[in-house]
Amino acid sequence: MLFSNIYKHKNIKKKFINLIKKKNFFQSQLFYGPKESSKLVIAIALIKYINCIDINNINSCNICNSCTKINNFIYSNIDLLFPINLIEKNINYLDKWISFFKKNPYNKENNWISFIKKNNKIYISKDQIKKKIQHTKISLDYNEYKFIII
Ligand SMILES: [Zn+2]
Repeated sequence: MLFSNIYKHKNIKKKFINLIKKKNFFQSQLFYGPKESSKLVIAIALIKYINCIDINNINSCNICNSCTKINNFIYSNIDLLFPINLIEKNINYLDKWISFFKKNPYNKENNWISFIKKNNKIYISKDQIKKKIQHTKISLDYNEYKFIII
């Protein structure tokens, strides 16, 4: 996901790019908006832009090691936290979520819940949160930033 692939929110993208160039962005950033908004894709484009070694005025390069890993969600400084079906614990929800996201990055959150729901036990569990907190304490692999997308 590149900033140039996101057709809306020009002012938000420009604001983030300027803050990153000045190295003056916030420690945490809350993306809030309607379910069908682009907040997840903007967050991912932002993470790529922060970590890319060859940015230009509007985009990350999309081919460096960091960009490639982020495109495949294997960048170790990113944690994803999303609801899972607690009844079916043997499913690799991360792979399932990545596949779901890649099919349509603009999918609504409710579509994910419908996609995995076979009963009413859809949660972000305490165990998931504990693992994410532990993971944030592990030293960083690539640079000084750690990202959690919830
Ligand atoms: Zn790059």
